[in-house]
Parts: sequence; structure tokens; C-alpha cells
Amino acid sequence: MPNDPSNATIARLRGEFSSATTEAGFLHQQSGTILRYLRRALLLCSLFYLMFGINDIVVLGAGAAGPLLTRLAVPAVAYLAWRYVRRAQDQVRAAYRASSLFTAFWIASYMLVIQHRPLDVLLHAMSMLIIVIVIQVFIPNRPLHALAIAAGGSAVFLLLSWHQHVESTRHLASMSLLILFANAFGALAGNRYARLWREQYRAQQVLTNLSVRDPLTGCYNRRHLNAALLDGEIARARRYRLSLSLIMCDLDGFKAVNDTHGHQAGDTLLRGFATLLQALTRDSVDTVVRYGGEEFLIILPETRLSGACELAERIRAACAAQRIDCCGHELAATASFGVASADFAADRAIAPQALIAAADELMYEAKRAGRNRVRARQFDAHAQAAVAAH
Ligand code: GH3
Ligand code: MG
Ligand code: MG
Repeated sequence: MPNDPSNATIARLRGEFSSATTEAGFLHQQSGTILRYLRRALLLCSLFYLMFGINDIVVLGAGAAGPLLTRLAVPAVAYLAWRYVRRAQDQVRAAYRASSLFTAFWIASYMLVIQHRPLDVLLHAMSMLIIVIVIQVFIPNRPLHALAIAAGGSAVFLLLSWHQHVESTRHLASMSLLILFANAFGALAGNRYARLWREQYRAQQVLTNLSVRDPLTGCYNRRHLNAALLDGEIARARRYRLSLSLIMCDLDGFKAVNDTHGHQAGDTLLRGFATLLQALTRDSVDTVVRYGGEEFLIILPETRLSGACELAERIRAACAAQRIDCCGHELAATASFGVASADFAADRAIAPQALIAAADELMYEAKRAGRNRVRARQFDAHAQAAVAAH
């Protein structure tokens, strides 16, 4: 099956799918959740960070203006990062970039605040422990990027603390170890979370595939056609005034194959035909549905009649030339094709069922004309209605 994520492996270290296409599919499907998590993270982190401004005022009094301004820059960056994400074309990639920018800026801002309050180094270390965990577990980002930012920020903080040396060496050494632990466990938790999220997605895809795929051929089944696909594609074609074509195809004399060579041979031939249909259509764009026993419906978004006819002719020729070995026999078959194309720029009211019926009727025309051929027509809802009324 094209782009089937059910067997996709997850890279242990990266915590992402090994295949870039599967990872992109996962991110696309989860984009709503990722954006919601990011908005919540930007808001909460900015709020908590600002709240600690009270602490600056208590410790520094009138001298707190500088740190307060530094703190205020963080919600400002959060706001700009969020605006950037909302306007981006690829919102998930933009969300990851925004997370990296925000977290790096947050740590930089905190380092400046620390400069004003050097005596509270152990309190700052406690804050750093929390920040390191939050960056790796709470703010959505690529696990390795989150680790790099958290570890880099920790290193800067530790260098500063050792350089200021207001705490004893014993305290500074313990503090460094604690921050190292926070980074290590934060990285492990972040990686585990990323992998569990993808494992859950993969399991969900297996169940979805089971419910919408035909087990013999791997093509989509009628449930998927009726529930989501055709309506979805028709709605899209209507909204953007696009063309959409359907090819209905049916193996010729298939009953004779079953009767002569047995059902197992028939099944093998069916699988071979389905594989051919999937190989000759566009991955993730076209959809092949097993419409009946040996009837398949191909949905071709953004395809005009001429393109659909060309494809049907290519499939017809490939099918006629194909030889399939089964149980010591060499099986061959031809198929008949009906192509119906709709132009939603000219007519937005075309109903999916009428378009399928037109492709089906054309396929039967091809059968009547002698089989192993293509019959095609531009769909015209008005003419169709007139014929029906007649
Ligand atoms: P035509 O050229 O007019 O299409 O003739 P045909 O023999 O292909 O069509 P017909 O409708 O008479 O026969 C279809 C056959 O397909 C009958 C049925 O047993 C067989 N069939 C349907 N589903 C399956 C299946 O899953 N496996 C097998 N082996 N055969 C199937
Ligand atoms: Mg048939
Ligand atoms: Mg049939």
C-alpha cells in the first residue's frame, strides 16, 4: 500500500519516523494538536516567567527595572513567534522553528536576569532544572533540537555560576551534577514521549487501514469511498472549481478464469490487477477503490478528461500485456474502462453518485462494444437530467 505507516520504523535516537514521508504525514495529521500545545506552552511559560518578576522587585527594589524589562521581552517574543506560526504555509515546521527560537531566547533572557542577582545562584539552579525539563517535555519541538537548546543553556549557566563563584565549590559541583541529571532525564522523557506518540499514531493507522482497506487487494473499500473520499474530493473540486475524473474498470471474462483455474487463481489475478492500478496512479493523490468483485473505481483529482483517458488507455494496454504466474499456469486478462470527467468551474452542482453512474454506464458501453477498450465522456449534469426525464 502506498505510504502505509503501519510498518514504519521509529529512529530510537531522534524519536521520529525514519522515513521523512511518514514523519511528514504524522506531523500533518497532528498539526492541530501540535499548534494547541505550542500556544499553551508559550502562554504558560511567559506567564510563569513574568511572575518571577515579583521576586526581582523583592530582592532588588528599585534596581529591578532592568531585569523586569528583560523578562518582558520573553512574552513579546512568544507573541511574535505565534504570529509567525499562524501565517506560515507549513505550520508544523514553523511551530518547531518558533519553539527553538522562543526557548533559546528565554534562556538568554534568564542569563541576563541572573547577572543582576548573582547571590541567588542555588535558586537559579532550581529554576534551570525546571526550565530544562519544560523545554524537553512540555514545549513541542524536535527532541534533538530541544536537547541541544536545554544542554547549551545549562552549559552557559554552569559556566556563569563557576565564573561568579559566589557558592562553595562543593555546592557548585552538586548543582552541576543535578543539572546534568535534569538534562539526561529530560532527554529520555522527551524521547520516550515522542516515540510513544508516534507508536500510538502507527497503531491508529493500522486500525484505520483495517476498516477502510479491502484485505485481498489492499485498495480502499466502499465504506471509505462513501464516507470520506468522494464527498471530500468533490467538495474540494467544487470549492476551488477544479476538474475531477473517475475511471470505472472491470476485468473481462473474469468468471471464466475462476471456472477454469479455480478461485485462488482468480484471486491472484485480482491482486495483480490491483497492483497494476496502484502502480500506474499517483501516490497520495489518486485513489483506487475496489468497487465490486472485479470492478475498481479510480478517483483522479484535478484531472481533465484527456488526462484521465490517457491513463485509462495506459492501464488497459499494461493489463492486456501482463502475464501472471499462478499454480503452474500463466494467467492473462483484459479489462474494460469507463471514464467520466466533471468540470466544477462550469457546473458546481454535480452529484458524486451521478458521476459514478456515468463512469459505470460508459464501462458497460465498452463491454458492449467488444471489451478491452476505453469509453469516455465529459459529464454534463443538465444533459444527464434531461436523459433521465426523457
Ligand atoms: P464481463 O466481461 O462481462 O465483465 O464478464 P465477467 O465474467 O468478468 O463478469 P461476471 O460479472 O459475470 O463475473 C464476475 C465474477 O467475479 C463472478 C464472481 O465469482 C467473481 N468474483 C467476484 N469477487 C471475487 C473475488 O474476490 N475472488 C474471485 N476469485 N472471484 C471473484
Ligand atoms: Mg468482469
Ligand atoms: Mg463485474
